[in-house]
Amino acid sequence: MAEIALLNQETIDKIAAGEVIERPSSVVKELVENSIDAKASAITVEIKDGGSSLIRITDNGCGIEQSQVPMAFLRHSTSKIRSVEDLLCVSSLGFRGEALSSIAAVSQVELITKTPPDLFGARYVIEGSKEKSFEEIGAPDGTTFLVRNLFYNTPARRKFLKTAQTEAGYVHALIERLALSRPDISFKFISNDQIKLQTSGNSSVKDVIYQVYGRDVAASLMELQEENDLFEVNGFLGTPAVSRGNRNFENYFINRRYIKSTLIAKSLEDAYKNFLMQHQYPFCVLYFSLDSKFLDVNVHPAKMELRFHQSGEIYQKLFSCIRERLMQKEHIPSVTFGKEVKKKEKEKAVSVREKLPEPFEKKRLEKAASFVRKDSPYEPKYPERKPLEPIVQAKERQEKKQPDYIQEELSYEGKFLSEQARKQHKIIGQAFGTYWLVEYEEKLFMIDQHAAHEKVLYEKNLSAFKRKDFTAQLLSPPMILTLDPQREQAFIALKEQLFRIGFEIEPFGGKEYAVCGVPGNLFQLNVRQILLEILDSFDEIKKAETPDLVLEKIASMSCKAAVKGSHTLRRQEAETLISELLELENPYFCPHGRPTMISMEKQELEKKFKRII
Ligand code: ADP
Ligand code: MG
Repeated sequence: MAEIALLNQETIDKIAAGEVIERPSSVVKELVENSIDAKASAITVEIKDGGSSLIRITDNGCGIEQSQVPMAFLRHSTSKIRSVEDLLCVSSLGFRGEALSSIAAVSQVELITKTPPDLFGARYVIEGSKEKSFEEIGAPDGTTFLVRNLFYNTPARRKFLKTAQTEAGYVHALIERLALSRPDISFKFISNDQIKLQTSGNSSVKDVIYQVYGRDVAASLMELQEENDLFEVNGFLGTPAVSRGNRNFENYFINRRYIKSTLIAKSLEDAYKNFLMQHQYPFCVLYFSLDSKFLDVNVHPAKMELRFHQSGEIYQKLFSCIRERLMQKEHIPSVTFGKEVKKKEKEKAVSVREKLPEPFEKKRLEKAASFVRKDSPYEPKYPERKPLEPIVQAKERQEKKQPDYIQEELSYEGKFLSEQARKQHKIIGQAFGTYWLVEYEEKLFMIDQHAAHEKVLYEKNLSAFKRKDFTAQLLSPPMILTLDPQREQAFIALKEQLFRIGFEIEPFGGKEYAVCGVPGNLFQLNVRQILLEILDSFDEIKKAETPDLVLEKIASMSCKAAVKGSHTLRRQEAETLISELLELENPYFCPHGRPTMISMEKQELEKKFKRII
């Protein structure tokens, strides 16, 4: 056996660095969080080659006092907490005091920093944990970090990096989130000399959303504000029209930190259910503040895990306020012809570009550069001002995603559905045996009969289930079901729920069960099929958090079965159906999230007929 010896500091730092610094984006995260903690109001992040050759971060924060500089690079040195008890109520972002030592262990770091009261700043160079130089230097207030050749001394880790483009993408996504988390800070992100993102720091969340996601999303926002005894939340929800196929659009910040929480995601997604198609996820930017007594923070080097006390209540309250907000708006997608919109899009992009403020820190940095030695390889370089990337990207995003037309949410609320309006609806007739055309004011509305039927039945069933407003119909003789073990298990778990909505099912010996009664509103349907379908989707049902969601699932299945047998409607029946639909709280989407109606403006038609240009 080899002799036991203590590892030297360099090795310890390298090992620790492995936990904190995984890739360029982790360096950027740590350094930008430090800048935020230093109260910077402007932060510029520049990377080359995905960050593996250079990461430069400049802030106008409080700076580090000269005498403290070497100390900042020691492991577990921090100005932010003094003991583990501070962790729970800490308001700054980083607090483990590991970032700088870890970064310096695996790269070549140059730091230029100056505090406002100091006359001179400091320049400090440290490579692979070894101090290379430390000198006094003229510098502007604030801090600049240059991190070169990440993992130059740990080739095994360097090999793990993905392509420069992918790494740059990670950094970009990170900056987007940081910018969203702090609309009061101006962020600028430059990758290979191109400005990729710039925010103004004017505190407007809407402006940051525009700068990050583009016009389409920014035009489809609903403000959310809620305060209760558990939490406070404000920010924006996207309308259903700007959903997407993954959770990348779900942004939420808890006490100013970007944190993933299954509880919040679930509550959000459940609230959007019936407003979105399956496997579509909502857009949101929400800022939560809640007392740290409701939080259980598990500190892990690379991420923070949050658990909530009273999670059930938080789920329920958040769910309700989002649902309510969604209900307040008419969600009728308006169909327009593509080209005109795209042209407008371009004009808008140009005009916004012109309106953006001059990069105000440019001057300041030029001043900084003049202090730095002329031959310094670190002299900041400024790219020519190019058309701003986010707008171009947003446009590309739109063009990629949009079909022939652009769907846009209407900003007016409550017009088509109001009682007043409904008296003036003119039902023109039916197209393709499916779509009912309704004229109202300057618009043509198209209602999908099938989706409408499904929705109306669904709501009827659901409210009947909820109010227990049905007579159980007795089956005689009873219907005998043979359940395989899986279905039997599902049945045992769901027995209470099924009983609540009017099913009467009794053991009939062995694997057999006798269905003696069924809810009256399902009486004429294929009850055997509905029951088996319910049991088969038990896995999905059991994920439902509240009993009402279980009912919603069952109602949705029963209405699907009912509509399968639907037939062509006569005009009178259609009128009844449409008026039943329009009376619903949420008439806009069928239970599976497809729109029940869309609209087209008279103006659009007139444009097509060249009556107006
Ligand atoms: P932590 O952020 O967990 O305290 P770090 O290793 O990230 O640990 O930083 C160590 C210390 O260096 C910080 O506590 C802070 O005092 C100082 N520091 C780091 N970056 C900056 C900056 N951009 N501006 C001012 N001070 C900074
Ligand atoms: Mg830190």
